[in-house]
Amino acid sequence: MKRTKYPLAIILSGLFVALSSFSGGDPAPKGPGPKSAPPPGKNQKAAIRTVIIDPGHGGFDTGTKGLYSKEAAVALAVSIKLGKAMEQEFPDVKQVFTRTTDVMPGGGNTIASGLNYRANLANNSRGDLFIAVHCNNDGHPAGPFTIRRIVGHKYVGKGKKRRRVAVYESYTGHHTRKGTESYIWKADRSGFKGTAIGQRGEGEGELEATDSTGEANADSAAFDMSSPEAMMRAQLYEKKYFGNSALFATLVEEEFTKAGRISGGVNQRDEGIRVLQATGMPSVLVEIGFLSNVEEENYLNSEEGQDEIVRNIMDAFRRYKATLEGHAPANNDATGSNNR
Ligand SMILES: [Zn+2]
Repeated sequence: MKRTKYPLAIILSGLFVALSSFSGGDPAPKGPGPKSAPPPGKNQKAAIRTVIIDPGHGGFDTGTKGLYSKEAAVALAVSIKLGKAMEQEFPDVKQVFTRTTDVMPGGGNTIASGLNYRANLANNSRGDLFIAVHCNNDGHPAGPFTIRRIVGHKYVGKGKKRRRVAVYESYTGHHTRKGTESYIWKADRSGFKGTAIGQRGEGEGELEATDSTGEANADSAAFDMSSPEAMMRAQLYEKKYFGNSALFATLVEEEFTKAGRISGGVNQRDEGIRVLQATGMPSVLVEIGFLSNVEEENYLNSEEGQDEIVRNIMDAFRRYKATLEGHAPANNDATGSNNR
């Protein structure tokens, strides 16, 4: 899977442009009605009124698997804790969950139907921020796995059947990948080129581990990116939501780093996460850790681990909200909670 890694400097320069263009207002369209200019200074209204929390997968779609736990369950547990923490600190922020139990959102029997349902729910709820919670894998099943590599060749058979075949050596692979990464959607390259997106580097074409459930394929089936509506959404995303998506993702990864996690930074993916683009709001998919790595699986399943992840995301959310609303985060919130 292709992805583009953003140097922080590029993200921040893009953000600056994006933020300065609409830091005074609400980033999400709020339907019809007279559009009044945002009041100046401290009287600004809350920029974040509704947050969509999307625990990945669910029901028949378990997501990736660790040795003993499944992504759908871990994502749900962390998402529910995130909702509780947000409710406690920001009771005025409305939360909309795409699911609160182990079901495929919308009740359909395809992953595509679930993605469509998630996007529609987010849009109909007029979310101001979409947070999807997922767990990562390194492309190999959890536990010991065998890797074969060619170490030479030999000839087998006699006469005309004699042929050259590879000699393999097998060895046991280790799950070394760990840490977090946040994804934002990559807008259509053939479409409108916004300021921020125009500065991006080309994807390295790096082979990326995919969710074992084939998220990418289902995703392509769910959203037809060539339709006029999809093109319009792509342009809107670039103009209005890319900057804030990158901002929130950057803050999330910063907070993970402060907590001592290994951060893979903010990445863009053009497949597998189009649910982010289908949502007309800033949207970020957070990979909270690698279930394929047993050390991280234990962390992701522990109360302390989940609580820390929630604190990190909340610290980022607080900073994000304060930035959009044009004030500094409250002092007591900005300190302490990162300490392990
Ligand atoms: Zn996932």
